[in-house]
Amino acid sequence: MKKIAILGSTGSIGTQALDLCARHPEEYRVTALTARSSREKLFEQVRRFRPEMAGLADGIRPEEIPEDLRFCRWMSGKEALRAAAAEVEADQVLVSIVGIAGLQSVLDALEAGRQVLLANKEALVTGGHLVMDLARRKGKPILPVDSEHSAIFQCLQAAGPNRATRILLTASGGPFRTWTREQIRRATREQALNHPNWSMGAKITVDSASMFNKGLEIMEARWLFDMPAERIQVVVHPESIVHSAVAFEDGAVLAQLGVPDMRVPIGYAMAYPRRLTTGVAEPDLFSLGKLTFEKPDEERFPSLRMAGEALAAGGAACAVLNGANEEAVAAFLRGEIAFGEIYDRVARALDRLAGLPAGNFEEIFDADRRARAVAKEG
Ligand code: NAD
Ligand code: MG
Repeated sequence: MKKIAILGSTGSIGTQALDLCARHPEEYRVTALTARSSREKLFEQVRRFRPEMAGLADGIRPEEIPEDLRFCRWMSGKEALRAAAAEVEADQVLVSIVGIAGLQSVLDALEAGRQVLLANKEALVTGGHLVMDLARRKGKPILPVDSEHSAIFQCLQAAGPNRATRILLTASGGPFRTWTREQIRRATREQALNHPNWSMGAKITVDSASMFNKGLEIMEARWLFDMPAERIQVVVHPESIVHSAVAFEDGAVLAQLGVPDMRVPIGYAMAYPRRLTTGVAEPDLFSLGKLTFEKPDEERFPSLRMAGEALAAGGAACAVLNGANEEAVAAFLRGEIAFGEIYDRVARALDRLAGLPAGNFEEIFDADRRARAVAKEG
């Protein structure tokens, strides 16, 4: 029986992970559940999975806890995340909260000797070197949940001792794949949240539309697989069936295929090196008929160019890009700025702050804070 703690249990990834726990009650026991503010949903989950600990980052007062749920230890704020990551008994910690908040949780979980199942990409984007160093020292490699990185990881498992020469990172292209630059700049909230293939949380869905998501994923792959950015090629693949591929020196390319359903990569991380039944069917190649691939367009999607520049700049540049993007996406979702402004605000932050250092946790958070301040300027 594996004990699993889930940070961000009410979200898109969190609920799908719980779906897998419910399918395999003999294999997984849920020991901690946390959310930010969706308390009704968390109450339901606690009722069903009966963890030892539950927490709300936005806080909960003792009298607000339903009577039948007082069997578990309730916590609030940052302490709740810390306890779920590092204090509650668990073999695995699934970090599926959004944003740079994930970095602290990943470091806490690793420090406590937990196996980290990582959905939160912002942790590697902002503090990849700290995370990978600590994972190595603790002998607990990070198990990726992001579908592309899970695909790459699965291909590398099949490659035995052979090192990959290149990574082919696939991208759906999002809802604006065929739009002009001007159309993209004027896109509405509703249009940005209308992803053609994946159903995900709001922040990552907007990132998919801007293709900042793919930029963040290049950074993620760079750290997870120790692959220089110039050997990571983004390939636009609108069907989202090939979840990524890996090339070898003999000219062979291994790819992982599946329908776009996150339960496959979540399940692979949860049961690694085994595979679980997930309720997901294999793709029907005959009904798909054909799969298509396109070059990414950095003119219409400047996010990809900015990601390349941030990686090349090193230091805290990727944290600056991430912090400015988080802030700009939040402003866009609140209806305060146009879609095209997301690019402008990230570019402005990179222009001003790309040279900041990222030697330790404090420097990374300082860069994040300063990037947010620049992105907030009107
Ligand atoms: P979501 O918005 O659906 O859910 C986020 C969850 O985390 C919720 O339970 C929310 O209450 C909690 N949360 C959010 N911010 C928090 C904070 N600051 N502190 C504490 N709790 C917080 O998001 P999601 O789509 O499930 O994505 C989660 C992470 O996984 C993101 O980093 C995203 O980039 C990554 N990811 C998601 C998918 C996907 O299919 N949804 C795929 C790949 C990677
Ligand atoms: Mg992804």
